[in-house]
Amino acid sequence: MADIANVVIIGGGVVGTAIAAQVSRHTEDVFLLEKHPRLGLGASSRNSGVIHAGIYYQPGSLKAFHCVRGANMLYQFCSEHSVPFNRIGKLITAESEDQLPRLEALKDKGITNGVEGLEIVGRDIIQRLEPNVVSAVAIHSPNTGIVEPEVLLKTLARQARENGAWLLTGTPVIGVEFRDGLVILRTPREEVAARIVINAAGLYADEVARMFGFDRHTIYPCRGEYAELSPSMCRIVNRLIYPLPLPSGHGLGVHFTLNLAGSVLLGPNARYVAGKEDYESDRTPLPEFFEEASKMVRGLRLEDLKQSYSGIRARLLPEDDHSFADFVIKADPNSHQVIHLIGIESPGLTSCLSIGRTVGEMVRERLA
Ligand SMILES: Cc1cc2nc3c(=O)[nH]c(=O)nc-3n(C[C@H](O)[C@H](O)[C@H](O)COP(=O)(O)OP(=O)(O)OC[C@H]3O[C@@H](n4cnc5c(N)ncnc54)[C@H](O)[C@@H]3O)c2cc1C
Repeated sequence: MADIANVVIIGGGVVGTAIAAQVSRHTEDVFLLEKHPRLGLGASSRNSGVIHAGIYYQPGSLKAFHCVRGANMLYQFCSEHSVPFNRIGKLITAESEDQLPRLEALKDKGITNGVEGLEIVGRDIIQRLEPNVVSAVAIHSPNTGIVEPEVLLKTLARQARENGAWLLTGTPVIGVEFRDGLVILRTPREEVAARIVINAAGLYADEVARMFGFDRHTIYPCRGEYAELSPSMCRIVNRLIYPLPLPSGHGLGVHFTLNLAGSVLLGPNARYVAGKEDYESDRTPLPEFFEEASKMVRGLRLEDLKQSYSGIRARLLPEDDHSFADFVIKADPNSHQVIHLIGIESPGLTSCLSIGRTVGEMVRERLA
């Protein structure tokens, strides 16, 4: 290992790895430290794998910006590097025509964010696209897609390594200090000295920030659970089918997600949990998924559902707060050398390349 690293990234999820791939194109001595024995065992492998178009997010927010730019970058990256993806499209369905004004407002928000191709469609088009969908009115988003998250992460990791970056797994950062103009990161085996440090620790980004004395943000773990449909139902829908999100809801609402392995998933729901590793306790009964999903799609039977995996969102707002929380991507107020990424929940997968580009620019400014 070099005596002094130019850049150390804490966290080997898709965001940290995308940053490593980007930064190592221009900078030598880049290290990524990941506490688990493999990269991507956090949210990056426990999500829906959806390439969001950018419809939902507050105009002008980092989420809107990185989602729209990131989706374009991701489609291009996947094509160039043989990462499996499919621009499969999505319908956001209303329960009744009374909800048309809310659909219109959501579509307008998407257009303001720069999302292309959005249109309101009525029963005829819905039936042609999705014969099993019950809704009479919906938003069609042709630019929403799906990607294989594990292959994406492996491809980014390979690029980073080929650029000369060191990706060290099994290496938790357990303490930090500033010494002689450098940031010293303590791990159980050794100390790593760095000129620039990037905190991309996902669910733990608030705790890593606190090691630097930056205690402004708290992450509230919010679990998203999935149910899977039996293989015989894998053609019940052809694209992603979402409900209109509730203003008082914490997620996008239980929806139909297809993955590139050919499975159909229902979920994720949104449940605040006490622990950041609490993936399995007190799982939601299948009839709850069934009830939500049956409002959108006919022909489902409860016996077609089985429990599937879950993931935990790095949410910046507590359960009783329904306002919008943006990604936090900024320098530590006490040290220009430290950049924090906190609250990188959905659309973090979609945004990873765009976030990587922005952080890459911040690093270059600092090393110039
Ligand atoms: C249920 C669910 C569904 C989602 N669906 C989508 C979707 O369809 N589309 C989309 O765009 N986004 C989606 N997301 C969001 C997306 O998965 C995340 O935004 C993204 O994976 C975040 O990546 P990350 O690298 O920031 O975090 P993570 O993948 O959590 O990686 C952080 C890493 O930091 C490591 N770490 C933590 N502390 C330390 C330490 N002290 N030292 C060293 N390493 C440390 C962890 O082990 C972990 O590997 C979803 C998220 C969830 C939970």
